[in-house]
Parts: sequence; C-alpha cells; structure tokens
Amino acid sequence: MARLLDYVPVVGQPIIDDLMLVADKLKGKIVQHINSTAVGGGVAEILNRMVPLLTELGVDSRWDVMKGGEQFFWVTKKFHNALHGKHEEITQRDFDIFMETSRRSIEQLDTYGDIVFVHDPQPIALINKKSANKWIWRCHIDISNPNQTVWEYLRSFVDKYDAAVFSAPSFSQNLPIRQFLIPPSIDPLSDKNKDLPQEIIESVLEKYGIAGDKPIITQISRFDRLKDPMGVIEVFREVKRHIDCQLVLAGGTAADDPEAIEVLGEVREEAQHDRDIHILLMPQNDLEVNALQRGSTVIIQKSIKEGFGLTVTEALWKAKPVVASAVGGIPLQITHKYSGLLCHTIQGAAFAIKQLLNAPEYAKKLGENGQEHIRNNFLLTRHLRDYMLMFLSLYHTENVISFI
Ligand code: UDP
Repeated sequence: MARLLDYVPVVGQPIIDDLMLVADKLKGKIVQHINSTAVGGGVAEILNRMVPLLTELGVDSRWDVMKGGEQFFWVTKKFHNALHGKHEEITQRDFDIFMETSRRSIEQLDTYGDIVFVHDPQPIALINKKSANKWIWRCHIDISNPNQTVWEYLRSFVDKYDAAVFSAPSFSQNLPIRQFLIPPSIDPLSDKNKDLPQEIIESVLEKYGIAGDKPIITQISRFDRLKDPMGVIEVFREVKRHIDCQLVLAGGTAADDPEAIEVLGEVREEAQHDRDIHILLMPQNDLEVNALQRGSTVIIQKSIKEGFGLTVTEALWKAKPVVASAVGGIPLQITHKYSGLLCHTIQGAAFAIKQLLNAPEYAKKLGENGQEHIRNNFLLTRHLRDYMLMFLSLYHTENVISFI
C-alpha cells in the first residue's frame, strides 16, 4: 500500500508538507468513521485509503461497520432511492424496521471517537448516542431533490450533528448546523488507479472475452437502476447502428444493496442475444477494474442520479474520454466539450459516443484535459486536507460555512 511520501511525485512536496502541518494539530484525537459496508460502492472505496493515510499522518483514525440485516438494507435502499427523488412507498413498518436495527446498533456499537464521522443514512440514528464528542454526518448521495417524507425523517437526526458534509453545492440543505462542501476523491496510487503495463490490460480483456479489434464502450457500476444500465444498452444499440463496437457493463454488488441481483437479472435478459454486450459480474478486483477502464475506448456513466461518480473520476484520471449524464457531482468533474461530454438523453449520449469514436484526436484531448482537472481537484491528498481542516474547525466556535 502506498505511503505518504509516494505521493510526492504525483502532487508535489508542498501539498504533502501542508498535510503534515495540519495533521500535527490533530494529534491525540481519535477519528472514528462509521458506514454500513466494508466493500462495494464509493464510500468503502474512499475509506479503504483514507483511514490508513490519516493514521500514517499521525491522526488516530479507525473505521467501524454498522451491522444491518436484509430487511434493514431493503428499507435503507428505499430511503436511498427516495432521497434521489424516486417514488417509493415508505410505510410506518419501514420506519420501524429502520429504528429497530438502529437501536440495536446504538446498544452494540461503541462510539469511542473524539470525532465520530458517520457516512450516509444507514447509520444516521447512531447520533442518539452522542455525548460530549463531535459528530459529523457525511452525505455521499445526491439529495438535490429528495422525497420530503424521508428527508424530513432523516433531518430530525441530521439536526443533532455538529456538522454535515455534502459533495456538491446543489445538495446543501437548510440546516441549523454547519455545512461543508467537500467533494470525494480517488487515490492515484491504489490498484484501481495506478499505471498498468499494456500486457496486464490485454490479459484482463482476454480473460473476459473482450476482443481488441473494435471499440470498447464501458460502464462500470453497481447494478442499480439509478446507474441506468438498461439505458446504456439502448445507447449502445443506437451507436452500433452506425459504428461496429462492443459494450462492457461491469459491476459488482454491495453488501448494503439487496436490489442489485434483481437489476443484474433484468440486464442479463436484455443482453442475452447480443454477443457484443459483455455483462461482467466482477468480484471486488481493483486491478481488473483498472485494466477495464484503461482498455476501453470510451467510458460512459449514464446515471440518472449520482452522488459524485467516482467511476468518472477514475476514468478521467486515466485520460479516457468520458460521456456522462449531467447529474449530481458529475458536472464538477466534466466541463462539457473540455474535459469530457455531458449528456441528458439516450440520443445525446449516443451522439456523443459516435462523435468520440469518429474523432480520436478530439477524444484524446478531452481525456488529457480531464486528467489534469482530476490532478488539481479530486485526488486523495486534497480530500485529506479538507477533512482535517474540517475536524479542526469543529473545535472553533465561529460559524464556518464551507471551505471550497
Ligand atoms: N466499483 C468496483 N467494482 C464494481 C463496481 C464499482 O470496484 O463492480 C467501484 C468503482 O470503481 C468506484 C466505486 O465502486 O470506485 C463506485 O463509486 P461511485 O461514486 O461511482 O458510485 P456508488 O457505487 O458509490 O454509487
């Protein structure tokens, strides 16, 4: 695993010096992260790297995973969809299931941190355990247009925190507590993002039966309706009418996402007679995801809602041309026609992909611009600094609105 000094060639010594300076002020404090899955999805992805690096910086940082049963995760998945604005029937029984598991966690989970950093709605009710320590709620999802019943319910917990963190300006809410705008990040040195030799890229493509002789369009995402895998297939079919190409839909499941198997089944059925569509149910394998992203001609992310879209960050970091929906945190990463192409419809996405496949020089330029944008804004080192400054600010009483 990369050490702090390994980042110097990527971001420069001054950035690392800054991190050490800020970390020094946090010595003696325990930062405890809590989420609901150790693998799968963006939150686990970030914590896997954030926690060891904070520790190396001398900030005692730990990560606990809240336990929840199948019923609980069905309810929280409904909450997740409803917060994204999707219509969901939420019943009193759903709220009861949510509180029952939450109560059990309140009893069982030790919230020993000086700073307790709670990620997403699943563990939100742990706040009822708050004592004199500082509590932060980190919202990773797009709540620009939430279902009000669910949001008002969760808000009653959010209001008790010391601060809330959102990824994009449009997600901020009217709250009586401090709000911080801190977008997520990727680790440039992780297996998911580090440079790879061409042989490894080719061997992974070969392993999955993906031919190298025609363009590869790829979406890597959990099988979730909000990632619109069926829409991606429609886009692909439209592109394919004009240009011979293949589609890779690669994704895993997450422990806290019970809907994934159902969505995967629908996608498989839709794609079953098309030899150019590769549906890959991937185990958590960062090197393979890296190789697939690098081996693709165009990366698509056709989400209907998106908290931030780390898959977009990962693709841009690899200087890939990206076509992505203009939703959630994606426009923070892609400036249309400069660092990628934004789309709003199936037709728009298909048009953008055709444009990139027909103009490789243009595609290359967009990818290079994207990579620079990620280097300057969305690497782990920036994220670490923002979090540490936020932790420090909790011990100051002035009313801070945001950093970025
Ligand atoms: N990911 C993965 N394997 C998969 C699907 C996704 O490793 O099969 C990773 C992906 O590379 C990214 C993260 O999971 O790092 C997904 O984060 P994103 O913000 O795109 O979406 P989320 O799943 O959090 O909604």
